[in-house]
Amino acid sequence: MSSYDAVDTATRVLVLNSGSSSLKYQLLDMRDGSRLAVGMVERIGEKTSRLVHTLPESGGDSSDGGSSGGEGGRERTGRFADHAKALEAVADELAHDGIGLDSPELAAIGHRVVHGGLRFSVPALIDNGVLAEIERLVPLAPLHNPANLLGIRTARALRPDLPQVAVFDTAFHTTMPEYAARYAIDTATADAHRIRRYGFHGTSHAYVSRRTAELLGKDPSEVNVIVLHLGNGASASAVAGGRCVDTSMGLTPLEGLVMGTRSGDIDPAVTFHLRRVAGMSVDEIDELLNKKSGLVGLCGDNDMREIRRRIDEGDERARLAFDIYIHRLKKYIGAYSAVLGRVDAVAFTAGVGENAAEVREAAVAGLEALGLAMDAKRNTVRSGEPRIVSPDGARTAVAVVPTDEELEIARQTFALIGEDRPAIA
Ligand code: ADP
Repeated sequence: MSSYDAVDTATRVLVLNSGSSSLKYQLLDMRDGSRLAVGMVERIGEKTSRLVHTLPESGGDSSDGGSSGGEGGRERTGRFADHAKALEAVADELAHDGIGLDSPELAAIGHRVVHGGLRFSVPALIDNGVLAEIERLVPLAPLHNPANLLGIRTARALRPDLPQVAVFDTAFHTTMPEYAARYAIDTATADAHRIRRYGFHGTSHAYVSRRTAELLGKDPSEVNVIVLHLGNGASASAVAGGRCVDTSMGLTPLEGLVMGTRSGDIDPAVTFHLRRVAGMSVDEIDELLNKKSGLVGLCGDNDMREIRRRIDEGDERARLAFDIYIHRLKKYIGAYSAVLGRVDAVAFTAGVGENAAEVREAAVAGLEALGLAMDAKRNTVRSGEPRIVSPDGARTAVAVVPTDEELEIARQTFALIGEDRPAIA
């Protein structure tokens, strides 16, 4: 008998992704994974904040007076002094649509939390102990965890009776073997400061690797997948039988692939050199490598569409930036092929991975020895559905699998609060 009988009709999950000055939200119905509302509040605490609220599944126009909106949405500007005010405004919008936070159909709130360290390998039902543990991880994610905590505290204040669940970006990677997770540095120093490779984008890697197995008609335990999450931030992972065995991001999201504004892999001595020879401060070097490097550092643009446009016009800097991006991607595909031994699929996801056919084509070109091939026609078909873009019968399938981190957070949240209920969607 379920301890959640009282909420057996409660099938909705609110997913919150709280940043330092933003609050993104989605309300999902877990009977079918559909979206009842999607929105965000930006510039919280600034002079003019903005709330954009849409009702994607209704498809209708729900604009009303005093607000403007396109695509069936509403927009509100005003001043939301803090996250509490922002969440109250979100609650008002949801109530306006008859799907308010006080509805008995709301089963739980799922929160994205960036860093779960070694402590959280699965989602956690939030209580004071869990909050204290997330707090303890702040030094490892000084920008993100405090913002995530703010979202949790605000939501708890509004609905203290409702189960709230933390879903961690690092959790999927906690299955990495020790030899993949440790840096080859002094063990005592590493342990004293919790320095190891944690990896990020885990919710996306979990979702996409599972969806890729489904696309192949297999159980996740039967397949080995390389997931390439290529958004503005980018990471690769090697997933063996549903478990992550390696990933490209490390102690922080700076390691690995070339990204929109991050360098990815770099000789650590570059940082000493900049300190000693260029006289840069640690904060300046941090900003250089995280915000002014990657594609934007190489050519001034971090949007792949713009880079492709410039390449078509013969721009050499854009061409070189693209080639460096692809070269790194290829190296990771090769490395993870070696790590996995047998690769059943390479799955592309996120903004660039889902949309940039040229990136997929260039990344796979010349990798026939690894069993990879591309069907040029399939690769250029645009679609929001998971799909195979390699030729039939290829040893390793190349797939495009749109990621859905909110659905995955909602799914994990719903599964945790009603373990005896089957997970849907
Ligand atoms: P994030 O969540 O990391 O901010 P996204 O996954 O939304 O990033 O990806 C954003 C990136 O996707 C943009 O910077 C842009 O380069 C790329 N992108 C989006 N649409 C396209 C497209 N049609 N073609 C090429 N690149 C695209």
